[in-house]
Amino acid sequence: MKTVQVNVVTPDGPVYDAEVEMVSVKAQSGELGILPGHIPMVAPLKIGAVRLKKGGSTELVAVSGGFIEVRPDNVTILAQSAEASEDIDVERAQAAKERAERRLNKAEGDVDAIRAELALKKAINRIDVKNNRM
Ligand code: ATP
Repeated sequence: MKTVQVNVVTPDGPVYDAEVEMVSVKAQSGELGILPGHIPMVAPLKIGAVRLKKGGSTELVAVSGGFIEVRPDNVTILAQSAEASEDIDVERAQAAKERAERRLNKAEGDVDAIRAELALKKAINRIDVKNNRM
């Protein structure tokens, strides 16, 4: 089976590094499925899950946006923050979700609301990745 090397990198360091059979991401333009040998490209990502197919199972990494850079034999995902499913603290994400909902309800102005909405999306994404609900 052909594989492609995938690295997920954040300012705090590498989060994921493996040879996989397929990687799927949520690009701003829609869902992208990448197989080994894909033509080079760069695309901005939404807050969402990265799905990594490997030896019959699928691993999930939560990413808070960022970029994907594709080359035929390797894929790099650069994100401000990213967590592999097993590293997600679901109670922390639940607390962040409730905090964001409270901020959204009493947001004064667009900037407050946009920031609270982003925090809410990040928290929901982490909860969904942890619960394998992607
Ligand atoms: P919080 O409000 O809980 O701090 P946040 O969305 O503000 O969440 P980020 O700024 O995106 O957090 O991330 C800061 C660091 O904490 C990053 O290294 C990120 O991977 C990590 N992190 C954030 N939330 C979680 C979580 N629920 N479980 C594990 N790591 C997390």
